[in-house]
Amino acid sequence: MPDIKLDVVTAERMVYSDDVDMVVAPGFEGQLGILPHHTPLMTTLLPGELRVKKGGEEVSLVISGGFLEVRPDKVVVLADTAERADEIDVERAEAARKRAQERLSQQSELGVDGARAEASLRRSLARLRVAEMARRRRVTKR
Ligand code: ATP
Repeated sequence: MPDIKLDVVTAERMVYSDDVDMVVAPGFEGQLGILPHHTPLMTTLLPGELRVKKGGEEVSLVISGGFLEVRPDKVVVLADTAERADEIDVERAEAARKRAQERLSQQSELGVDGARAEASLRRSLARLRVAEMARRRRVTKR
């Protein structure tokens, strides 16, 4: 099967770049699977897991939202933030989740800051979920 050239980039760094077999992204309207020769496309991504299949292996990343563009020659994910599952600092994500939930519980005093707390909560929950799914996959592989 022909490969897809995939770049996952943020404003800070190139997080992942490789020739892969398949990409499954957290699209705005649900999971979006991209195989070679996919029609050109530009779409919004939500916070969640980006799965990359290559050979028999699967790499999992978490993104906090962004855009996915299928070009004739490559697939580009331009993410707000992105980490490979093995880079996720679970304690930090847990602390961010608690902070956001505490802020939301005082929402009547928050005003527009409520939206920021909600976005922060969505990012931290996506990180925790992806770290946990990657941990389970490692355990079942053993
Ligand atoms: P925090 O409040 O812990 O900073 P945040 O959701 O506000 O979390 P972001 O603004 O989404 O953080 O990300 C800032 C930078 O920190 C990005 O480079 C992102 O990849 C990285 N980052 C954030 N949280 C984590 C985490 N739990 N593990 C690894 N990297 C993280």
